[in-house]
Amino acid sequence: MTDTPFRQIAIIGLGLIGGSIGLATQEALPDTRVTAFDADETVRIRARARGLAHEVFDDPKDAVAGADLVVLCVPVNAMGAAADTLQGALKPDAIISDVGSCKQSVAEAIAAALPGQPIVPAHPVAGTEHSGPDAGFASLFRNRWCILTPADGAAPDDADRTAAFWTALGAKVEMMDARHHDLVLAITSHVPHLIAYTIVGTASDLEDVTRSEVIKYSAGGFRDFTRIAASDPTMWRDVFLSNKEAVLEVLQRFSEDLSALQRAIRWGDGDALFDHFTQTRAVRRSIIEEGQDDARPDFGRRDHGGTQVK
Ligand code: NAP
Repeated sequence: MTDTPFRQIAIIGLGLIGGSIGLATQEALPDTRVTAFDADETVRIRARARGLAHEVFDDPKDAVAGADLVVLCVPVNAMGAAADTLQGALKPDAIISDVGSCKQSVAEAIAAALPGQPIVPAHPVAGTEHSGPDAGFASLFRNRWCILTPADGAAPDDADRTAAFWTALGAKVEMMDARHHDLVLAITSHVPHLIAYTIVGTASDLEDVTRSEVIKYSAGGFRDFTRIAASDPTMWRDVFLSNKEAVLEVLQRFSEDLSALQRAIRWGDGDALFDHFTQTRAVRRSIIEEGQDDARPDFGRRDHGGTQVK
């Protein structure tokens, strides 16, 4: 049990991330009241049945009334609209946060909708390929990073309290500039997802290889790409459109490196290939040593049907 940094938190959007925050908060901070809203009525019904919050309201204004922290957990491109609906309903000192996978564009959209409200954007770098109100679980953020991107001039106390909240949920917190966050996540998450979407699409279009062969022999490496490529289409469409600049910059570098490997294969340059693969193996070792993945062949993912960083 931990001292609570907020007496009431409100969650807007009760899918994988919002639901997990609701469950994790009730478990880790029993003195914090959790109120919530989702735009979809069927989601609200499921959220009540699963107890994702103490109370799920039919109106977003009722959900945020009295809240000290409001966390927007909707798709990136819906953040501005979700913030808009809260106008006039918030306590003046209520901190507005979000969990969007891109930070610069989301912070701008929230600030435009709620001028003058304290804003501390956040990105829990944790997730699965599942979405919706049945996907969340309380331990999702445990031992995962949560990146906060408070704007210049934000009150340090607001960022500290938001950091304490995420720490209570089991996350490790880091502060970062929003643009830098977007570049880091473009290489560690967004472009890898684009590559997975591409390779799975290419395989299903390959005329000389049948679909049943692709499925049958998927353990050769393809299977891991399919898990990532099963991620929510709305979320990922929004991520690429919102983090356009950083994604295009990283893609440019990636295509150059891919061409270099293509050249090495064409010219039979085994040394270049071997050196490259040796370096990449070291990256994998560091990730396991830092506890960000599991060395077991199933990545230890059986428990929740997948935990991955996003
Ligand atoms: P999700 O499971 O699809 O949940 C989002 C929920 O928000 C849905 O129930 C959606 O309803 C609802 N919603 C949409 N617009 C709304 C609005 N204006 N007001 C209230 N509710 C609204 O998505 P998620 O995976 O939890 O992702 C939520 C956010 O977390 C995204 O911004 C994403 O970038 C970020 N994130 C995701 C992951 C991940 O691994 N999934 C990891 C880190 C951060 P409808 O379905 O009816 O639209």
